[in-house]
Amino acid sequence: MNCQHQNCFCSIIPPHLLSEIVYRNTGKTRENALQTLITTEQFRGMRQNSSSTAFVPIGQKWRVVFDARANTYLPGVLARSEGSSKTRDIAVNEAYDGSGATYDFYWQIYGRNSIDDRGMRLSSTVHYGKNYDNAFWNGYQMVYGDGDGIIFERFTKSIDIIAHELTHGITQREANLAYYGQSGALNESMSDVFGSLIKQWILKQNSSQADWIMGSGLFKPKIKGLGLRSLKQPGTAYDDPRLGKDPQPAHMDEYYNGPEDNGGVHINSGIPNYAFYLAASAIGGYAWERIGRIWYLTLRDSLRWDANFEQAAQSTIIIAKQIYGVRSKETNAIIKAWRQVGVIR
Ligand SMILES: [Zn+2]
Repeated sequence: MNCQHQNCFCSIIPPHLLSEIVYRNTGKTRENALQTLITTEQFRGMRQNSSSTAFVPIGQKWRVVFDARANTYLPGVLARSEGSSKTRDIAVNEAYDGSGATYDFYWQIYGRNSIDDRGMRLSSTVHYGKNYDNAFWNGYQMVYGDGDGIIFERFTKSIDIIAHELTHGITQREANLAYYGQSGALNESMSDVFGSLIKQWILKQNSSQADWIMGSGLFKPKIKGLGLRSLKQPGTAYDDPRLGKDPQPAHMDEYYNGPEDNGGVHINSGIPNYAFYLAASAIGGYAWERIGRIWYLTLRDSLRWDANFEQAAQSTIIIAKQIYGVRSKETNAIIKAWRQVGVIR
């Protein structure tokens, strides 16, 4: 599916993981995962009216959080808007604070004014559906389920998931990477990379202190898993009888060629994720400062909607050369990283 402005649907939990849960579990866990899959399918292709053009001063946030009250109508009832005080609902506050932190990161680090770089309103809906096992960006807003409480916590719990979803909005406005195959895996990877970077920025962690895990804290304590994906060691994020094993490859030799998950958008994203991690850890320091900036400029200025891994690799190398120099540490680290994951020779 193409992630066009009208019908983008980018969810954090891929369909193959929900299918595994349906296959491996019984009772409520199975029922909730099945219901999430069905609701997700119904949602695909639906179109919404956007009312999020902003007229706010440059560099100022404009956040609104809605409560779906366990329904699937969007956006739901207004629960908190910009400048209003905390509510008693933790999910509302997390969506508000998380979208604010994501806005601050993009503004302070890369000078980007919201999703569209023109101050677009950041809309979130929480308590979507009943025990809904997912979070997604639908082309206009972020949407979060509460999770089933057995495998998944509420989806606003991890700041990197909030940042991941918002970054889908940025990708849609910039490279607009088609949500299938390698361009789709790049789309997912960009969301994972910046999701992780925003968490690192909030925690003031350098590349060796960071956990590089997407969605840490999302699984209930009994689940054997650190989170949904690992940029540092793709394929090792979880391994649990109720979920199966993390299927992400870290090298082109293990590239997934099947039809599931839009041609493996959440699977093969492990390869560019790992390239980013390798380059960032070779350079050291705060990953958002140099390698992160190169990736951001690649997404903003260089990638086309149908970009493949090799084109993305070449784009990051060209931008690294322009900013830091042909023989710089940064350029060499990026070339080495893409070679190590088998994307370039
Ligand atoms: Zn995603």
